[in-house]
Amino acid sequence: MRQYLHLDLDSFYASVETALRPELRGVPVCVGGQRGGRGIVTCPNYAARAYGVRTAMSVRAAEQLLPSTAVFLRGNFRLYGEYSRRVMAILESYAPEVRQKSIDEALMEVSGCLHFWGNDPVRMARAIKDRVREETELTISAGLAPNPLCAKIAAGLRKPDGLVLIRHGMIRDTLAPLPVDVVPGIGKKTAPRLRMQGIFTVGDLLTRAQERDGWLGSLVQALLDESDDRAHGDHEAAEHSISRDRTFGRDTADREEIESTLFMLTERCCKTLRAERLAASTVTVKVRYADFTTVQKQETLPSAVVNEEQVFAAVGLLLGDLLPPWRFVRLVGVKVSNLSPLEGQQLMLDDGESERLFQLHQEVDALQKKFGEKSVRWGKSEPQV
Ligand SMILES: [Mg+2]
Repeated sequence: MRQYLHLDLDSFYASVETALRPELRGVPVCVGGQRGGRGIVTCPNYAARAYGVRTAMSVRAAEQLLPSTAVFLRGNFRLYGEYSRRVMAILESYAPEVRQKSIDEALMEVSGCLHFWGNDPVRMARAIKDRVREETELTISAGLAPNPLCAKIAAGLRKPDGLVLIRHGMIRDTLAPLPVDVVPGIGKKTAPRLRMQGIFTVGDLLTRAQERDGWLGSLVQALLDESDDRAHGDHEAAEHSISRDRTFGRDTADREEIESTLFMLTERCCKTLRAERLAASTVTVKVRYADFTTVQKQETLPSAVVNEEQVFAAVGLLLGDLLPPWRFVRLVGVKVSNLSPLEGQQLMLDDGESERLFQLHQEVDALQKKFGEKSVRWGKSEPQV
């Protein structure tokens, strides 16, 4: 049985500010705007929430709710990035598989580590929460469940500093009484529409789901999933694509470093393509900046490709103006999708180059498999240390 642990830092930006400035403890703090300004509140702390302030509320509206002692801060995103990295490093010391979902959230698949904790996932989650608090002075809410979606819901149920376990066999009973908008993906637009159809609780959703297809049907399936098969529990795994990401050790604006990393990621995607005898028609490049805004651009090529030269040519074009010299980058990624079997494929030809390159790459793949990835490197890609 699989056990997922979703962790979500509580009012993250505001909590970092409070951790560094003890005089702010207990004071309503709003990160994201200046008093008298026209901005919106990105992150109110719990003292501010107690007055009714919510994320994405205008600063003006928040000012009307809050006492004059409240503090508005513009926010220091570089600092939040550092704290985020510290927390992720802690999480990575507990399980081999930690997937960062956003600046303040991560998902871990912990089934394989539970024997260290007497097979008690709650004990493990508590230890992680304590360690995060000791090392960063931040509280983190935890959700344990048989699938990633329920783990995320569980993490949100008792904020701040929550710890909720949804047991195997208990998903339906635990979730049924909750309002339907606790489910990620059912937002401000969908929830009223569902209510008009008489669906108020998750229970309503689950009992009425048989009649539905499309995304609501697959959402219900994901909610109730208790299979042992990782692919079932993982929304993204179902997508037919190959992608590789890399988070830089420190944010960088060095175009050469970014491009060589992208080339290395392209190589890895192409190597997997070749190993699976697949060719790709669509190439996507992803850039996440230091402030966590993420842009993706994709291009569907006139015919399928499998060699890194061609994929990287597309990556280069897509990059276009995504890398202005003043903008620091945190993560880059390459995805190839729209996959089809390599056999019988009309590969994008450049004067018979494709076939020759393909042979060459296959030979290099074989060498690397035999002697390690470091044995043969292409000129462009970053040395692996
Ligand atoms: Mg959070």
